[in-house]
Amino acid sequence: MLGLFLNNPGDLQLKELTSEDPLNDYEVKIKSSYGGICGSDISVYKGKMAHANYPVTPGHEIVGEIIKVGKEAKFKAGDKVVVAPNSFCGECEYCLKGMSNICEHKVSLGINVNGVFAQEFTISSKYVLRVPNELPDEKAVLIEPFAVIVHAFQKFSLTKETSIAIIGCGTEGMLAITLAHHLGAQVTAIDINPTKLEKIRNSFKGIKTVLPSEMTEERFDVVIEAAGTRDSVEHGIQHVKPGGTMVLIGLTPEANFPVMQMVRKELTIHGSIIYNFPTDFSKAVDYLLKDDFDVAPIISKVFHFNEFNKAYDDALSGQYGKIILNFKEDNVNEKISITPAG
Ligand SMILES: [Zn+2]
Ligand SMILES: [Zn+2]
Repeated sequence: MLGLFLNNPGDLQLKELTSEDPLNDYEVKIKSSYGGICGSDISVYKGKMAHANYPVTPGHEIVGEIIKVGKEAKFKAGDKVVVAPNSFCGECEYCLKGMSNICEHKVSLGINVNGVFAQEFTISSKYVLRVPNELPDEKAVLIEPFAVIVHAFQKFSLTKETSIAIIGCGTEGMLAITLAHHLGAQVTAIDINPTKLEKIRNSFKGIKTVLPSEMTEERFDVVIEAAGTRDSVEHGIQHVKPGGTMVLIGLTPEANFPVMQMVRKELTIHGSIIYNFPTDFSKAVDYLLKDDFDVAPIISKVFHFNEFNKAYDDALSGQYGKIILNFKEDNVNEKISITPAG
């Protein structure tokens, strides 16, 4: 069984990995179909994730098929599944309150422990969700990153009158744009990259796009910070309406907050981290199943896993949307471009 192996930062190889047989009663073995390269995979690759362990098999966004089932696991061979890549203990104060996303004992696949960028992997069935066969792999692989957005959107209410600005148009920002647009809100997308903004204008009707330098005095009911930079946090908060809400999903270490302004304007600031499993995953599936929920603009390229070097190079460049690794053997070695919907 082949899998990716990150020896040390920057030293990524494709290797024969041993698969840990036999399964315990609650485990399942999954044959990978599609895996998405995430910003955190890139941070681990660059050695910029403080709590990462090496060597490690990277990857946490995956869709696949069950091929082996432990005695007590409630799955069957052939089930199409996705996995929750962050563990939770189920017993700490936060887990007991239903906030397993902030579990004190969380470990993350592909960061602290071996991840899923392999032809097969084994995982506790507790972290596995069955998904409908009619959900295509290229949509199903977005369930995990999209669950982050589904979770963040529960921090505020949104109607057709709501003005919402999304700062940062990487995968998470694009998923937030897609959801806000789908829900009929008045959406403004902000990014430093004009090419990304152009793609958004071409992909979605009625979305305003602006470069940060073009921002006027405009204020929004909701601002979502998905760029993860100090600048975008400090800049973004200036554009929240009095009584409005800012949701931070980017992971910049520090930023200055204008306290007096926040008090006087009664701003609400939320941090939002990952999701609760399986609730946020199930909501993500419901949206992705809708025909008019179009995620084609989010996926830039699909590479066969043999071409992991090219895939990582493109992901590292920051010029693309989601880059997907195809782990299905039966596929061609050439990249397949998914045509974005107009
Ligand atoms: Zn991710
Ligand atoms: Zn816990």
